[in-house]
Amino acid sequence: MSKKTLQDPLEQLPKQIRDLLKSSPFDGGFQSGVTTESKGSSSSPPDSENEAHQEALNRLRHFNLRPREIRDHLDRFVIQQREAKKVLSVAICDHYNHVRHCLEEPSARERDYAKQNILLLGPTGVGKTYLMRCIARMIVVPFVRADATKFSETGYVGGDVEDLVRDLVKAADGDVELAQYGIIYIDEIDKIAQNNSGGGRDVSGRGVQINLLKLMEETDVSLTGQNDIASQMQAMMDMQRGGKSKKRTVNTRHILFIVSGAFDKLAETIKKRVQCTQIGFAVPPGQVGAPMSEFLRHAQSRDIIEYGMEPEFVGRLPVRVACQSLAAPDLEKILLTSEGSILQQYRADFGGYKIDFEITPDAVTEIAHRAHEENTGARGLMTVLEQVFRNFKFELPSTGIRSFKINAETVASPERTLKALLTENASAQREVLRAEVQTFADRFKQTHGFTLNFAEDAVTALIEQSLETDKTIRALCEDRFHNFHHGLTLLTKDDASKCFAITAEVVRDPEKALSRWVVERFRNSNLSDDTNLASG
Ligand code: ADP
Repeated sequence: MSKKTLQDPLEQLPKQIRDLLKSSPFDGGFQSGVTTESKGSSSSPPDSENEAHQEALNRLRHFNLRPREIRDHLDRFVIQQREAKKVLSVAICDHYNHVRHCLEEPSARERDYAKQNILLLGPTGVGKTYLMRCIARMIVVPFVRADATKFSETGYVGGDVEDLVRDLVKAADGDVELAQYGIIYIDEIDKIAQNNSGGGRDVSGRGVQINLLKLMEETDVSLTGQNDIASQMQAMMDMQRGGKSKKRTVNTRHILFIVSGAFDKLAETIKKRVQCTQIGFAVPPGQVGAPMSEFLRHAQSRDIIEYGMEPEFVGRLPVRVACQSLAAPDLEKILLTSEGSILQQYRADFGGYKIDFEITPDAVTEIAHRAHEENTGARGLMTVLEQVFRNFKFELPSTGIRSFKINAETVASPERTLKALLTENASAQREVLRAEVQTFADRFKQTHGFTLNFAEDAVTALIEQSLETDKTIRALCEDRFHNFHHGLTLLTKDDASKCFAITAEVVRDPEKALSRWVVERFRNSNLSDDTNLASG
C-alpha cells in the first residue's frame, strides 16, 4: 500500500470530524452533509422532505412517456444524433416502464428482466453526456457523471466505483429510494480497456470493469464508504443508541448505467475491416473520406472485446449506439437553435449588466467554422466564444454601452472591434466615470460622515487619470483618498462643518491639501484667539 494510500483517509479525518460535530448534536441523526443519512435515522424525516420523496416516486409511478415524446424533447436541445436519440428514447421508456411496474406491483421485481444499460460510442463533445442529462431532467431522476479513469480496482488510490452510487444518493438529496431509480453515466470507459494502449493511464482496468459489472448487475452498496469516516462514526453512534447498526444500503438493480467512450483506435480497426473489400465487404456509399468516428456504428461485440473490454462487461450493455461527429453546419445550428446553446449563456452573462448583443449570420458561420477546426465537437464553440467575448466581458460592464454587434470581422479580430466600440462611445464612457466619482463621494459620506464636493475640474482630472491609467474611478479614489478621513477628523474635531470642496489640486495631492487646511485652520484659530484677547 502506498504512502498516499494511507494518508488520504487520515488527511480527511479532521474535516470529517468537524463536519460531524457541526451536523450532529450527538443525540440525533445527521441534519446535513450526506443528507441521505437523515432518511434512515430513527427520527422521522420532516414533512417537506417526505412530500418531495412521495412526489418523486409518484412521478415514476405515473411514468407514461412514449419514445417519440422523449425524442422530441431531446430535439429541442441536442442537434443531430438522430439514431442515438431514437435508441435512447426506446431504452429509457422500457426501463422506466419496468420501474413503474415494480413500483405498482412489488412482485414484478422478482421477474426476470434484462436491464437496458447503454454503451454510447463517439468522439468527444458531440452531446453524449448532454443527451443523458436532458433525459434525466425530463423524467426528474437523479443523475451522476464520472470519468472511468478516476477509479481504481481497490479504491485506495483512485475512487471506488461504489462512490458513484453514494453520489447518486447525494444527487437525490439523500433520498435513498429515489436514488435506486437514478442514472449513472460513466465516460472514458475506453480508457479502462485492458492492455489499453490508447494513451490512458496504467490502471487495473480489468478490476474496475469487474467492479462496475457487479454494480450494473445488482448489488447492495453501503452508504458508508471506506473513506467516509463521518458516516462510519454515525453508524457507530447508531449502534450505541440502538444496540445494532442500521443497514444503510442502496440496491443497484434499477439504476440505469450508461457508459461511453471515444474508442478512437476501434474506429480505425473497423475502418480497415469495412474497407477491406477482399474479405467481402464493399465500402458503404458515402463513407469514403468520412470522419473516423463514423465507423463506430459498425462496432460489434467482438470488436469491443478485442479492444480490451471484458466480455461480461460488454454483455451487460445490450443497448449500443454511436454518436456521429458534428460538422461545421451542425455547430452553426447548435448556436442558432439549441435551447441550451452556449450563446444563451453569454446572453444571460451580459444580461447581468443589462447589455445586449446582436450576432450576424456571417459571425455565426465564422464561429462554427473556427470551432470545427478545434476538433473537440461542440466544446470548440466554447473555446471560440470565450476568445471572441473575453475582452468584451471585461470592458463593457464598466462602460455605458448597452448593446453591441458581433460580425465576422469581430470574430476574426475581437480587440479591434472592441477598441472601435469604446472610441465610438467615449462620451458615454465619460458620463459613466463621472457617475462613479459621485458614487465614491456617496460611499465616503456613508462610511466616514464627510461630504466631498468634487468640483468640475476635479471630476475631469479623475476621468483623465482613469482613462490614462486604465484604472477604475473607485480604485483611483480609494488610492488617492486612502486615510483622508483621518486628517478630516482631526480638522473637524470641534467644528460642525463636515463639507469639503475637492478641486483638481486636491485630487493631485490630497496630503498636501490636508496640510494646507490644517495650517489655515491653525492660523484662523490663532487669529480668533488674538481677536478674543484684543476684545478681552
Ligand atoms: P460528450 O459527447 O463528450 O459527452 P457533451 O455532451 O458533454 O459531450 O457536450 C459538451 C457540451 O457541448 C454540452 O453541454 C452542450 O452544451 C454542447 N453540445 C454537445 N453536443 C451537442 C449537440 N449535439 N447539440 C447541442 N449541443 C451540444
